[in-house]
Amino acid sequence: MDRPHSRNYFKKAKALMPGGVNSPVRAFKAVGDDPIVVTRAKGNRLYDADGNSYIDYCMSWGPMILGHGNIKVLNALRKAIRGGTSFGTLCPNEIKLAELILDTYPSIELVRMVSSGTEATMSAVRAARAFTKRDKIVKFEGGYHGHSDQFLIKAGSGLTTLGTPSSPGVPEAFAATTLTLPYNAIPAAQKLITGKYKEIAAIIVEPVAGNIGVVLPENGFLEALRELTGKHGIVLIFDEVITGFRISLSGAQGFMDIKPDMTTLGKIIGGGLPVGAYGGRKDIMQLISPEGPVYQAGTLSGNPIAMAAGIATIKEIESKPLFYKDLEKKTDHLVYGLKDAARLAGLGITINSIASMFTPFFTDKPVRDLESAMTSDTKKYARFFHFMFEKGVYLPPSQFEAHFVSMAHTAHDIDRTIKYAYEAFKKL
Ligand SMILES: *Cc1c(COP(=O)(O)O)cnc(C)c1O
Repeated sequence: MDRPHSRNYFKKAKALMPGGVNSPVRAFKAVGDDPIVVTRAKGNRLYDADGNSYIDYCMSWGPMILGHGNIKVLNALRKAIRGGTSFGTLCPNEIKLAELILDTYPSIELVRMVSSGTEATMSAVRAARAFTKRDKIVKFEGGYHGHSDQFLIKAGSGLTTLGTPSSPGVPEAFAATTLTLPYNAIPAAQKLITGKYKEIAAIIVEPVAGNIGVVLPENGFLEALRELTGKHGIVLIFDEVITGFRISLSGAQGFMDIKPDMTTLGKIIGGGLPVGAYGGRKDIMQLISPEGPVYQAGTLSGNPIAMAAGIATIKEIESKPLFYKDLEKKTDHLVYGLKDAARLAGLGITINSIASMFTPFFTDKPVRDLESAMTSDTKKYARFFHFMFEKGVYLPPSQFEAHFVSMAHTAHDIDRTIKYAYEAFKKL
């Protein structure tokens, strides 16, 4: 597809912003070529600056579960905007969204709104540290919890080795407070936690990993974390920034029936506007300022417009009893179609999926953690991405991301996607 206007925009952007973007993966570095420059989106479609349209499976990286420009959300936004855009005071919309969250997440007894997932996770960890009076945290290799210093720690070679910063600018002293474990590794978790629990404030985990591509928790993994943390007075944080309102109305925790101590939310709860939230047990959340001494604040936290988009999104989901069933059906249609297409094309791939998120990994091995995800052939993914892009299908521009299906994806679009994927798989 010709994209002269997009290329011009990107050229301009590069002179103004690092790498020409405001969030790294958008730059297409993992797949090559200039990035997409989008001027409009509606339903399941993105429209670029050159007027090309794409069926979107990135969906703004997760928030757009209803599709782009959902009419209910837009109407709620119009109504909210007429009342002004920011008050810097308590407003009714904050209370409404908090009520919707507390009603659907029984583990959340008090909630605090913030403006991004990054803020939610860093604040949850601060609360956990204050509550336990311990400094260290445990995260899983390949787990993404936003970009605050303590989370930018890559896979350590040994389980108990001190974290090595994976980004320059993270002080070693910060990195040393983060211990890492492979995802799904129960014995390793038992060993680390039993040995070091007196130093560990929190374990933070994506209950379905979504940032090394989609990786499911194996039987007993989250249960083991729940048991270990409970036994040793460690705060268990489920980072449900992707999975909240995605896996089910009550997130992965409702779907899997496990109660974490703290939960972080983002993406869908903002309905496409910048919103995050963290919450959990009352005895922990009561430590947050001004009720308690743990400081955390935000000029635009609980913004009435952002809250309105989140409320409209959740209400629309709640108004449809079969919402998650229908969405899963669409996703299964696509995932089974892709699996069949790969088999017919003689290509060994592994597709992980749950609810309305999935990732095709270009490897014939099962993908259950960072190490196995890394066996996928990222060059093949890049070629697949570009083939689909040329056909008008926009996939996440990196192998290690979740693909999302929304209510706005039609059977017709999904069939077309499968057809193009089959053509692509034959060429790979
Ligand atoms: C996206 C994401 C975050 C960070 O959210 P931002 O709004 O981008 O700061 C945190 N945790 C998980 C699991 C995410 O997918």
